[in-house]
Amino acid sequence: MSLQGARWLDEVVKLTAIRDVELLELSLLHTLREFLAPEALSLFRLDAQGRPVYEMRCGREGAPSILERPAIDPEVLALARDIGRGGGASFHHGPGLGVFAVSEMRGLPTFLVVRGIAAEDVASLRMIQGFLRFFENYCGLLEYSQRDQLTGLMNRKTFDESVYKLFAASPQALAEPGPVAEERRGGGHTGEHWMAMVDIDHFKRINDSHGHLYGDEVLLLVAQLMKCQFRKTDMLFRFGGEEFVIIARRLERGAALNLFERLRSAIAAQRFPQIRQVTASLGLTRVVRGTPIPVLLDRADKALYFAKQNGRDRVAVYEDLLDEGKVAEAQIETGSVDLF
Ligand code: GH3
Ligand code: MG
Ligand code: MG
Repeated sequence: MSLQGARWLDEVVKLTAIRDVELLELSLLHTLREFLAPEALSLFRLDAQGRPVYEMRCGREGAPSILERPAIDPEVLALARDIGRGGGASFHHGPGLGVFAVSEMRGLPTFLVVRGIAAEDVASLRMIQGFLRFFENYCGLLEYSQRDQLTGLMNRKTFDESVYKLFAASPQALAEPGPVAEERRGGGHTGEHWMAMVDIDHFKRINDSHGHLYGDEVLLLVAQLMKCQFRKTDMLFRFGGEEFVIIARRLERGAALNLFERLRSAIAAQRFPQIRQVTASLGLTRVVRGTPIPVLLDRADKALYFAKQNGRDRVAVYEDLLDEGKVAEAQIETGSVDLF
């Protein structure tokens, strides 16, 4: 094997040790930078309206930067939209500029931009395409292992890691109420994160009277209602059999309550095959920075239990129940849990 081939293999081995899509993207840019030495490299994503929502940028040297609302060069954007429409080639490779479609990452169309590679440099083009195919296949496997097979939501195993990452990525977003950079549904916004535990009411009865297949259909439809209701940056997990956990980001208290109330009423209004009506109960709590994850889960669970005991098909808020003396503060031994 040539030295170049051995280095290539080393890089691929390093990439397969990574279990996180963002880190993997970062390593992809580093690797391409090392092998191709282009003027600039970046990855960006478009939302459903074709607007840029994320960019990871990497120059000739130094650390890469990540932007949540990037301004993408109009020429690159036009090329990406063209490629994204499909039907034609999945890349553009012109003088000094290459734009390549990467299969959807985080559910959004993603593009790689390479500047400063000559259009006739076929070897570099093949290397980029080879790395991208490897990257897509590996990300596909990673996604597969992190998702629940029935509903397509994130599974329990990825929950802790996702929450730690959320806290690490945006410390300001978890501070006591303060301005945050991101916008929610178009409007400027300040707010916190909210965690809800959602549990389908009397699900055992549904299984017992209609069979597991119908039960599964209910889980699938409820998961779809959740996906419609929440943003891509909110986090949806199937936690157990008929239990889900949702983290909605950057919302005022009133807006959070409305959002989860809307989910509750959407489930109650949905007509499920064979089963007339299905309802769910929700326990909601504010995500306070510095609180151990098991404590947050315990709070949401206490609110959920209260909702179940008080008629089901309702949203109960832990902080309100605490103020009203209807639940007791969670007692978890220090030292038995990880702090973040
Ligand atoms: P409650 O309103 O108090 O939540 O009552 P429940 O009947 O929903 O609660 P319980 O926890 O007693 O029952 C949950 C049932 O969910 C029991 C189990 O058979 C069923 N279940 C768990 N996982 C799955 C699954 O993947 N598919 C189906 N169809 N059923 C499941
Ligand atoms: Mg239940
Ligand atoms: Mg349950």
